[in-house]
Amino acid sequence: MSVSPAPVSSGRHFLFDDEHEQLRRTVRQFVGREINPHAEKWEADCRIPKSLFLRGGEIGLFGHSVAPQYGGIGADCRMAVIIAEEMSHAHTSGPGMALGAHAEIALPHLNRFGSTEQKRRFLPDLVAGRKVAALGITEPSAGSNVAGIQTVARREGDGWTLNGSKIFITNSVHADLFIIAAKTDPSAGHRGLSMFLLPRDTPNFIIEEMKGKLGRRASDTGLLTFDGCPLPADALLGELNRGFYQIMQCFENERLVIAAGCVGAADAALAETTRYTQQRPMGFGTLADMQVTRQRLAKSYMELEASRQLVYYTTWRVVQGEPSLKEVAMAKAFASEAAFRIIDDCLQLHGGYGYFSESLIERAYRDIRLDRIGGGATEVMYEIIAKQLQI
Ligand SMILES: Cc1cc2nc3c(=O)[nH]c(=O)nc-3n(C[C@H](O)[C@H](O)[C@H](O)COP(=O)(O)OP(=O)(O)OC[C@H]3O[C@@H](n4cnc5c(N)ncnc54)[C@H](O)[C@@H]3O)c2cc1C
Repeated sequence: MSVSPAPVSSGRHFLFDDEHEQLRRTVRQFVGREINPHAEKWEADCRIPKSLFLRGGEIGLFGHSVAPQYGGIGADCRMAVIIAEEMSHAHTSGPGMALGAHAEIALPHLNRFGSTEQKRRFLPDLVAGRKVAALGITEPSAGSNVAGIQTVARREGDGWTLNGSKIFITNSVHADLFIIAAKTDPSAGHRGLSMFLLPRDTPNFIIEEMKGKLGRRASDTGLLTFDGCPLPADALLGELNRGFYQIMQCFENERLVIAAGCVGAADAALAETTRYTQQRPMGFGTLADMQVTRQRLAKSYMELEASRQLVYYTTWRVVQGEPSLKEVAMAKAFASEAAFRIIDDCLQLHGGYGYFSESLIERAYRDIRLDRIGGGATEVMYEIIAKQLQI
């Protein structure tokens, strides 16, 4: 997609200061220089090179929420929102997903719940992009229903033995460290779940790449099998049997970042489509000269702006430390559904050209489909909202 901002979003939002706007420019340049020229190859390869994590680390994409003693800057989530928005302007959203899964989905578990020793051991390399992290929660028989996972970690002497499997795990190809959810008390439902740190070279740990995704092809995905993996006592991340609550806490950041990515993707698609309609001849003028086109675009810009403001408002609440479970669920559901509708309309305005891979809209259309499912499906967000509203 284009890296220029859509008309509605021009100008600075009161949520952000100079440092945030500088970061926005830095990420925009990173996308233009380090991602867009390679988009086609990485899509075909179904992965990015591992060196992109290193490049991301060099410009500070991963350490904003991490304390300075572990290599970060200890800032709030506004930076994550800006990074997600800007990365989604790339010509492929796979790299943004890979880097985001590392920094905003996996790393926060360690940052929030790791012991001093665990943080000291892993965080500096993850922040610098020298090592890559992945989060493994989803299983073949349990996705939305996190409490239903069947992977088990059994006590074995001082440590643990891990058995089970995980599916759809982003960064499986590159990850050095996997953060894995497992049952430590299978009879206790969601109160019997714990998190573990699993290095890639752990014995009896099998990683298989999953191919054939609809979109986000430049981001790799894997199937993990734990066939009696031995884990030391200090592999436990956070509190025993509190894993479910740790996951729920980390969902706040994950879902907010996904929502921000949807704003960026819709913004980029609209900018591209506006330009296209202004250039596409229609006999008497251009496609944009038709009232129906201008109204369709106006409606999409309106939806995008509503989406952006909900995401920014939710970000503000999170920064203030306000309870935001309902708002984050609303932002994630609204932004992903809106972006899907907007990009569908963008494809429509591209006509047949939008149906071919030469157009960026074709990829954007495939890529955005994930956001209504991943990180909690829209229906799951509606359930959270309804429960919070005590309906
Ligand atoms: C490309 C990709 C990358 C991913 N990366 C990761 C990763 O890195 N780590 C990880 O742990 N997981 C990852 N996931 C998994 C993702 O989070 C799950 O796919 C998602 O949570 C949905 O789970 P599921 O696929 O098992 O669908 P299911 O749980 O089987 O749900 C199927 C559908 O049922 C409906 N549904 C579900 N629950 C409800 C409900 N309560 N009320 C009404 N309807 C409902 C929804 O429409 C939902 O889409 C990834 C998935 C994909 C596709």
